[in-house]
This record gives sequence, C-alpha cells and structure tokens, in this order.
Amino acid sequence: MNSIVLFNGYKALLFSLLVVFIACSQKKESPKSAERDFSIVNKLESYDIALERPQPGEWLFEHEESGQSFEQYIKSKPISPYGKRKNIYLLPIGSFSPEQERIILSTAEYLKIFFNLETIISPAVSEDVIPKTARRTRSEGYEQLLTSYILDEVAGKNIPPDAIVVMAITSKDLYPSDSWNFVFGQARLKKRVGVSSMFRYSDAPLDSSNFHICLERFIKTSSHEIGHMFSCQHCTHAVCVMNGSNSLYEADSRPNKIMFGLYEKTLLELGF
Ligand SMILES: [Zn+2]
Repeated sequence: MNSIVLFNGYKALLFSLLVVFIACSQKKESPKSAERDFSIVNKLESYDIALERPQPGEWLFEHEESGQSFEQYIKSKPISPYGKRKNIYLLPIGSFSPEQERIILSTAEYLKIFFNLETIISPAVSEDVIPKTARRTRSEGYEQLLTSYILDEVAGKNIPPDAIVVMAITSKDLYPSDSWNFVFGQARLKKRVGVSSMFRYSDAPLDSSNFHICLERFIKTSSHEIGHMFSCQHCTHAVCVMNGSNSLYEADSRPNKIMFGLYEKTLLELGF
C-alpha cells in the first residue's frame, strides 16, 4: 500500500503505522531514501501488535504465506501514483439499492482521506458485461461472479488515463475459481485493478440498523484491496489492514489497529 500520505492529522501516525504494519511505504527509488524509510520502520516497530498463532479455519492456518518485508516491497517496484495517474477510480457493476449507493459514496470519501488520493466514482456499468461463463449459482440460490473476469475484462479494460487504480464494486457475491466458496474481494498486485463485494456484509437488506457495520466492513475490504493494487502483499507479521481473512468472523474479530483510530475519526468527520 504505497504512496499513502495522509492529511488531517493522520498523516504522521497512520503513514508510519502503515509502513510498519503493512511493510509498505511511499515509493522511494534511491537507496538513500530507502535507508531513511527503514529507520522509520525500525523506530515504529514497537507499535506493532503481533499476530497470534493462526487457529484452524483462519486465513494463515489455511494459506501458507511468507509475508512481505519493507525491503522486499521496495525492491518489487510497487505501483504508486505518478504523473497524471493519480486518482483512485471506483467502478460499480450492476444495480444497487439507495442504501448501497450511500455505502459507495461514503467509501469514496473515506478512501480519499485514507490514501490522500482523489477518489472518483465512475458511472455504473451493466452487470450484463459479465457473461454466463463467468457466473455460477450456489445451491442456496444466490449468484456469484467470477473475479478474474471482472479484474481482467471489466476493470482492466476501463482504466481511465488519470487512474492509478480501478476498484470494481458489486452487490453480488464473488468467487475466484471453482474450488473456492467465495471471496470478499480480490486484486492484482501489478495490474492496477481490483474488485470488492458488499454481498456478505449484512444479513438482511440494508437499513439504519445495519448500515454502519456494512460500511465498516466494506471500507476495510476496499482499503485492503487497494493496498494490494499498490503492490502490497498480505501482512503476516502484525495486526493490519493487509491481513488475510478467511471469514467474516475473522475479519470482524481482528480489528485493525490502524483502522480503529481512522474508522472512528473518519466516520465521525463524515457524519456517521
Ligand atoms: Zn488480500
């Protein structure tokens, strides 16, 4: 999650924490700059809350991941804003209820503050752009959309010239391949595209009783996927927005300490 430069008093704290927790930072090309950032990382390491040993069913128990050090991140030549490519675009796919549209609007406001990048909501595209071969229907009766098609054929072919990343948004559930039950979201680390779903974030149709929890969950997933789009891999070291989550329970029960403060302050600023 590079090029995260935050305003409004969050800049120093959150940028620093993000550097430590996500093992990412602003893009620095020269060794001298990289060394300077390493010193920041070392100083701030004490702020980490270490991840506990993964339990059966949790992401790191089911998925062997080595994580990504700050040095590895720098060497990966991460995606970061440059020139006119500096805006985050959100690309709604399909139809949304008025409450779901409010989730998208509020998420855009949040992401603008979180990443310090202009965040633009593109006109929604019809779900008809996704062919039957990129859909499946679960035994419970709901439909799922194939993430790879959305990433490569929809978001990937709708990248505006001034976009640094494009995140598709859908109210339908997602699946990354036939062997997976579902996925909350997915992103390419170097292709500047991702997708997030709000399907699983409320048990019932959105109203005032579940709006806030749905917004919190969607904000978290969106920040996570955009972090991937900025070339950040999953964090396996500390509690972090870039931790993988195998279930809603895991995502909810591992509140992100970066996001905690930002959630409260930002949601307050936004009037929620
Ligand atoms: Zn992820």
